[in-house]
Amino acid sequence: MSPADIASASAALEGSPPEAALRWAAERFPGRVGFATAFGPEGCVLLEAIAREKLAVDVFTLDTGLLFPETLELWHEMERRYGVRVRGVQPALTLAEQEQRQGPALWQRAPDRCCDLRKVQPLRAEMLLFDAWITAIRRDQTPDRARAGVVERDSRFGLVKVNPLAAWTSEQVWTRVRERDIPTNPLHARGYPSIGCAPCTSAVEAGEDPRAGRWRSFAKTECGLHGRFTSKPPKES
Ligand code: SF4
Repeated sequence: MSPADIASASAALEGSPPEAALRWAAERFPGRVGFATAFGPEGCVLLEAIAREKLAVDVFTLDTGLLFPETLELWHEMERRYGVRVRGVQPALTLAEQEQRQGPALWQRAPDRCCDLRKVQPLRAEMLLFDAWITAIRRDQTPDRARAGVVERDSRFGLVKVNPLAAWTSEQVWTRVRERDIPTNPLHARGYPSIGCAPCTSAVEAGEDPRAGRWRSFAKTECGLHGRFTSKPPKES
C-alpha cells in the first residue's frame, strides 16, 4: 500500500468500531495478516471479536518462557472458549541456552537485550509470514503510542500495522470485557494493570501509571515491539 492509501484507510476507519478495522485487515490482506497478543484486556477484546466475526487472522503470542502461570491459563481458556488457536512463538534460544551465552537473569542486567532475544527477534522472523499485523495498542498507553494511526506503515518490520483500538480508552476496553463476559488475566484484580514477563512485572500502587510496574528498576517503557528501546541507565532507587 502506498502512504496515501494507508492514510486514506486510516482516516476512513478512525472512529469506527474495532470490528471494522479487523474486517478491513482480513479482507485487504487475505491469508497474510497476523495478530500478536500478550493477552492483555485489549488483546482479549480483539481475540473475541476475531473469533466472533470468523476472520481469517493468524493469531500468535510471543511465548518467552517467562510468562506468568495466570497468563498461560488465560491463553488456554481463550482457545477453549472461542475455538481459536493461538500459536506460541518461541525464541531461538531456550532459557538455559540464553543463560549459557549471556549469563544468568539477563533481564536484571540488560532488559533491552533480553527483550530483543525473546520478543523482537522472534517477532521479526514471524513478520516474514505477513503483509500486515494487528496490534492491541491504544494511543493513551505510552508517549510512543500517542500518534498511532488505526492503519499505519510499520517501518520496523516493513509491513502495514493495524491498531483497531488506537482511539479507545481503558474504560471502553473494560466496558467491552464486561458486556461480552470476556476472560481476562486474574492478575489485573491484584494490582497488575499491565502484564508482561513475570520477572519484569510488578504490581502498581494506587495513582501510579498503569505501566509503572513494567521494568520497574529501569528507564524502559517498551519491549521494542511498538516503539523504541529506552536504553538508559537504571532508575535511581
Ligand atoms: S520482558 Fe523481561 S524477561 Fe521478558 S523478554 Fe523482556 S527483559 Fe526478558
